[in-house]
Amino acid sequence: MGLFLAFFATGKIAWAAEAKATTSIENASVSVEDQTWTGSPIAPDVEVTLNGQVLTANTDYSVDFSNNTDVGTAKVVVTGMGNYSGVATATFNIKKQTEEDSTDDSPDSSTQSDETLSDSTRSFSSQSTGSTSSVDSSELSIQSSTTATVDMYRLYNPNSGEHFYTKDSNERDYLVALGWTAEGVGWVAPASSSTPVYRLYNPNAGDHHYTVDWNEKEHLVSVGWRYEGIGWYSDDAHTVAVYRQYNPNAVAGAHNFTTLKAENDNLVSIGWRSEGVGWYAVAEGKSLVSNSYIYLDAGHGWSSGIYDSGASGSGYIEAQQTSELAYKVAYYARTWYGLRVFVNTDEGSSKVSYEYRQADAKQRGCTALVSIHFNWSSDGATGSESYIHSINANYRSAALQTIMHTSLVSSLGLFDRGKKSWQIAVVSGKNNGLPAVLLEICYINNSYDMSVYKLKEDKVAQALAKGLYNAAQAGY
Ligand SMILES: [Zn+2]
Repeated sequence: MGLFLAFFATGKIAWAAEAKATTSIENASVSVEDQTWTGSPIAPDVEVTLNGQVLTANTDYSVDFSNNTDVGTAKVVVTGMGNYSGVATATFNIKKQTEEDSTDDSPDSSTQSDETLSDSTRSFSSQSTGSTSSVDSSELSIQSSTTATVDMYRLYNPNSGEHFYTKDSNERDYLVALGWTAEGVGWVAPASSSTPVYRLYNPNAGDHHYTVDWNEKEHLVSVGWRYEGIGWYSDDAHTVAVYRQYNPNAVAGAHNFTTLKAENDNLVSIGWRSEGVGWYAVAEGKSLVSNSYIYLDAGHGWSSGIYDSGASGSGYIEAQQTSELAYKVAYYARTWYGLRVFVNTDEGSSKVSYEYRQADAKQRGCTALVSIHFNWSSDGATGSESYIHSINANYRSAALQTIMHTSLVSSLGLFDRGKKSWQIAVVSGKNNGLPAVLLEICYINNSYDMSVYKLKEDKVAQALAKGLYNAAQAGY
């Protein structure tokens, strides 16, 4: 979350800085020579020429590299500074020196030869001692030109249940083409450190395992696992913990690794075993929310061609208020947090009728449902409450209710009437329904409630959007 917001803040600063009178380097020519693979990030010399003039590194521009460790196409991003602005890009190739050095790192590979395995072991030995000159020189050049970190891509295999992690975007894309789901960046690793994380493959279960523990690695190899070399490195400064969980019921995908305590706790709550810290990252994971698709149900409104205005009071009509708030929540969820959200009023008068909204959400491929309502009382009641289904709630509804209820109560600040359950069709989880919660924001016929709500409407919308983001991070 912090990272995500920081990204936007940085974007704004960069945008403001462009208002200065500077020369754009967009049309500059950027030349980089192809490189030979070393196993470590490579930061080659870059020559930037604009209108026949060679620009000066770190005065006129800065350089960032990505995908610059493994064999494939590496990217160079040159960003103007000083008297220059804008961005220019180039690519270069990283190649193996000879064909016999090549290794097949793909996780579904079952044909890795002993020869390749011993090659992995050799590259491990040379990196751990740090004695080869090629590793030393590339590390030196990296330190002088760029922050040496690596985004670790996280992928999920919906068939085997395995999570897989790689720093190689080509490998990621290859797996996505095979049907794996990209889940964003699991964590940010240092490009190098004194603590390697060993990667192993179990040819029988088709599962990978990763460990910093030399003895665990040796043990797994002795019982038939294949050592695949160093996957990445652990941060020696222990900046961010990467939690490890074990699923005692799974064959493939027995371990999961995450920087998100919420995801760790969620898995433990459904039967996984917490195994503490697997290793350390230099920064948290990012955007593990691409699988999430929230169905935001604006309560009441159009239903089978009939307009249901819901409750009314204090000069407000419930259906108008639920629609207005749903759109605001969706706006913040999309623009601040990059979430996918469907608002059922997106379809205007053809809006699906109340009793079919669960089915509609499922049919659209949504992963959770949040229904927004305003309460009504004949006896002057005040405050916020939430509901899950009392009989048919999806087993993950209660945890979703906790996230969203807390977001509502803490942002609005009215009396907390509690987390409740009742037989409400839209939050039913029967027939494999979705995790679902209904929020009663406050009492529409209590003018005090509504005056507080109207003052804080944007704050509430932002808090609910952040709640959805937290839910998405926890796997909803
Ligand atoms: Zn209602």
